[in-house]
This record gives sequence, C-alpha cells and structure tokens, in this order.
Amino acid sequence: MRIDILTLLPGLLESYLQEGMIGRACREGLIQINAVQIRDFATDRHKTADDSPYGGGAGLIMKAEPVAAAIKSVKRRKKARVLLMSPQGRTFTHTDARRLAEDRHIIIICGRYEGIDERIRQKYVDEEFSIGDYVLTGGELAALVITDATARFIPGVLGNEQSSQDESFSAGMLEYPQYTKPRVFQKMEVPEVLLSGNHAQINRWRRTQGLLKTMKNRPDLFAGLQLTEEDKKEIENNCD
Ligand code: SAM
Repeated sequence: MRIDILTLLPGLLESYLQEGMIGRACREGLIQINAVQIRDFATDRHKTADDSPYGGGAGLIMKAEPVAAAIKSVKRRKKARVLLMSPQGRTFTHTDARRLAEDRHIIIICGRYEGIDERIRQKYVDEEFSIGDYVLTGGELAALVITDATARFIPGVLGNEQSSQDESFSAGMLEYPQYTKPRVFQKMEVPEVLLSGNHAQINRWRRTQGLLKTMKNRPDLFAGLQLTEEDKKEIENNCD
C-alpha cells in the first residue's frame, strides 16, 4: 500500500514514520508513506498557500490551487482514495481502518489555519474524517492516527497477526486486562486464573473482564453486543 500525506508541515510527520512498527514496515517495503509539501505546488514568487476568507472573519484559509496540484501530482491511479482530515468529518473507527487497509493507494490531505477552501472537498475528496470532537491546530496528527491504525491491518506489519484480531473493537468490545511479570507488584497479585494453565477458564475470564470493561467505559458498544446466557450470568456474578 502507498499513502501520500499532503501537508504544509512535512517535518511533523518524519520521526513518527521512521520509528516503531510503522518505520519497520516502511523499511521492509510493506507500506510506502510519502510526505508531500503542498507549498511546493504554489506557483507565485512567494509560494503562497493561504489567503483571507471570502465574507470576512478570523484566520486564513488554505488556497485550493496548490492543494489541487499536490493531489494531481500523486494521483496516478483513478482508484486512489482521497481523505480529508477535518473536525467536520465522520469520526474515524476501527472498521474504517480495516476497510482502508484493502486499498492500494490513499491520499490524505491535512488542513492548517482555518481549514481548506471548500471546493477541494467538493471536487477531490472521497471521505472526510475527524479523529474526535475537538479542534486540532492541523490535520497531521489525524493523518498519523489514520495511517497507523490502517497500517496495523496490512499483513506483516504487526509481528503477530493474532494481536489485531484479539484487540479492542475487533469483536465490538474492549480488550480484557493484561498482566506480565512480576507476579506481585506493590502487593497487587496477578489474577489466579491466569496462572492456572486452564485455557478454557482463562478465555472465559478474559471475555467476562472485556464485557465488564465495555459495559463500564463504553455503554454505546455494550448495547450492541450479543450476550450468551453464560455471559449474562458471569456479568451478574462479577458486577460490583
Ligand atoms: N475552522 C475549522 C472548523 O472549525 O471546523 C477548524 C480548522 S483546524 C484549526 C485546522 C485543520 O486541522 C483542519 O483543516 C483539519 O485538517 C485539522 N483538524 C482539526 N481538528 C481535527 C479533527 N478533530 N480531526 C481531524 N482533523 C482535524
């Protein structure tokens, strides 16, 4: 897969994309990620990429022409999917990440200032995504969030493919609590069942704990879960 991130501040992306699992995936050729400087596509002497809003008001708006030229420079295939980072977009989810991982080419547009001339969204954008109900100073963090979450679904990017299947949201619920050595930390013991070696009991305990956590932290997700009779009994027995 190839991801082109169009931005006025490519330096913000560099260290994140060079390190950790994403950096390794890039080095191994599993994914190719390019940061593209939108300002390079401004045609005037001063490389102007922003201007004041029509109708007045605070701040500056990113001009349409450099953004359009930047998109055209990377969009070689008709099939490339163009995403706009925007607090006005639909909230990005786990399901979106899994779906985008099937694409061969994604182009992500990062806004700055008060955002981008609306005609870019109208003409070029396939999907407009927000990463939450708050306003960031720019789209680069959102682009990294989407890139990272999507890359995890590309075969080979995670060392252990199973981990993306077990994780929070994969079955519509949150993951169970996890522990590692030491067995006792500040007088708190690892739950006995995890030391039992009994995989059926461990799986049952993990499912119950995941359900309890989902019920507490994400009642919206919990409401959509199909609970078995055993789940219901376990929840009742383990509720405080
Ligand atoms: N004036 C815009 C509004 O009120 O909707 C906010 C512009 S924001 C200061 C600048 C840029 O940051 C946006 O164009 C977008 O690319 C990015 N951005 C800000 N918040 C975001 C969010 N929650 N999700 C995704 N991108 C966001």
